[in-house]
Amino acid sequence: METGPLHFGVIGGGLLGLTLSLRLAERGRRVTLLEASDRVGGLADAWELGDVAWDRHYHVTLMSDSRLRAILAELQLDDQMRWSRTRTGFLVDGQLTSMSGLADFLRFPPLRFIDKLRLGWTIWQASRRDDWQTLEQIPVADWLIKHSGRRTFNQIWLPLLKAKLGDAWQRTSAAFIWATIQRMYAARRTGLKYEMFGYLPGGYARLLSAFQAHLQTLGVDVCVNRPVRRIERDDDGGYAVTGADGEVSTFDRVVVTLPAPTAARVCPQLSEDEIARLADVEYLGIICASVLMKKPLAGYYVTNITDAAPFTGVIEMTALVDPAELGGRTLVYLPKYLTAEDAAWSKSDDEVRVEFIAALERLFPNFDADDVLAFRVSRVRNVFALSTLNYSRRVPPIETSSPGLFIVTSAQIVNGTLNVNETIRQAESSLDTLCQPLPHPLPAFGHDAPADRELIARPR
Ligand SMILES: Cc1cc2nc3c(=O)[nH]c(=O)nc-3n(C[C@H](O)[C@H](O)[C@H](O)COP(=O)(O)OP(=O)(O)OC[C@H]3O[C@@H](n4cnc5c(N)ncnc54)[C@H](O)[C@@H]3O)c2cc1C
Repeated sequence: METGPLHFGVIGGGLLGLTLSLRLAERGRRVTLLEASDRVGGLADAWELGDVAWDRHYHVTLMSDSRLRAILAELQLDDQMRWSRTRTGFLVDGQLTSMSGLADFLRFPPLRFIDKLRLGWTIWQASRRDDWQTLEQIPVADWLIKHSGRRTFNQIWLPLLKAKLGDAWQRTSAAFIWATIQRMYAARRTGLKYEMFGYLPGGYARLLSAFQAHLQTLGVDVCVNRPVRRIERDDDGGYAVTGADGEVSTFDRVVVTLPAPTAARVCPQLSEDEIARLADVEYLGIICASVLMKKPLAGYYVTNITDAAPFTGVIEMTALVDPAELGGRTLVYLPKYLTAEDAAWSKSDDEVRVEFIAALERLFPNFDADDVLAFRVSRVRNVFALSTLNYSRRVPPIETSSPGLFIVTSAQIVNGTLNVNETIRQAESSLDTLCQPLPHPLPAFGHDAPADRELIARPR
């Protein structure tokens, strides 16, 4: 018999782990959150850049991000969001052109009229279909060439695919581009006339600190500086979670929210098949430079680059965020998405700086390297799971062979892009599975589990 509230250990304090902790606590469960770093937030956390503090990676909220906005409302922050329409630029053959609306699109110099019609058709029909399982079986290049034509593919789509996927674009399915276009059209689906981009004054640091405080008022034990090394079923059917310092915490149920290969490492008792499935998920990583400057760069929130460059896009955050938030400075992010094997991982911060600043000078004639006030590099190896052919058939399941041990990770997002709203949806949609009664008696598990043992949850 289970007595008292079940005690859940949630491993990983990114937005996924935070949301799970919130919703489990609201359902009356006892929750302890274990986060490796010295603060919660993961990919969305903040850091210091020169004398300002802002998000380590660029983050924008869409007005149509209903799940994220529901959490912002619960934290009494949604009414403080600042919304605006931003502009998008395209750097093609050394020319920076606006691509911010239909008029810009019709004028867009690199493409002939017929190419524009085919490009428009590609985007329009992708925004309307919902058979992503069909698209998952088709390589993205084949699908885009079929609908947009080879010229437009080479001039527009291929540089964009390389920008977001590095060399892995060749292994990616058409579901990836479908999900990206779906996000662009999310506003229409949620009844808005057009999309607005938003941010919270104070950035994600403010959201995260309010989130952590709210969890604590609900009784969640938020533990930072607690990297988890091993999760093992113990003799009475609960779980022993061992930290890097050897400290052991015990729980009735454990939910791992880490990237799939890390989950495989910390759950050694899972079956060989389960471990292989987790370890085999292919991730893209990112090298993302934050640059603080004296003057604005180009005024576009996003500039897509189709010319050769060491980074794969330019995000001018202060085209969205009021520069007053950053002491009147301009904040620009220079991301480079890359596969695990890419040689660029071995570059030092200084090498990245020299290469990226030289490229900015080449691509933006108004940019002056003397205007750079601070430059900082973030490197993350496992950012998002690559949408390879038929990925949804290989995605690791939430339930494991060990009753009470669950994996809820962004790698399970099969029909959306990686963003906070989808991450929250992934957490929320897993709740019924996490809270369901376990089989009774529990099956034996692990290499040394006695076969006839009755394993039941007990108060902790
Ligand atoms: C460059 C970039 C730009 C982005 N832009 C946007 C945007 O504009 N809008 C948007 O909505 N989303 C954006 N995102 C996506 C958003 O950041 C993610 O959707 C979200 O942060 C994923 O949260 P998560 O909890 O799944 O993963 P993570 O944030 O990776 O959280 C995992 C957590 O687990 C911890 N951890 C790892 N190992 C252990 C261990 N052994 N023990 C304990 N803890 C451990 C990590 O420290 C981390 O805190 C962006 C992401 C990146 C990288």
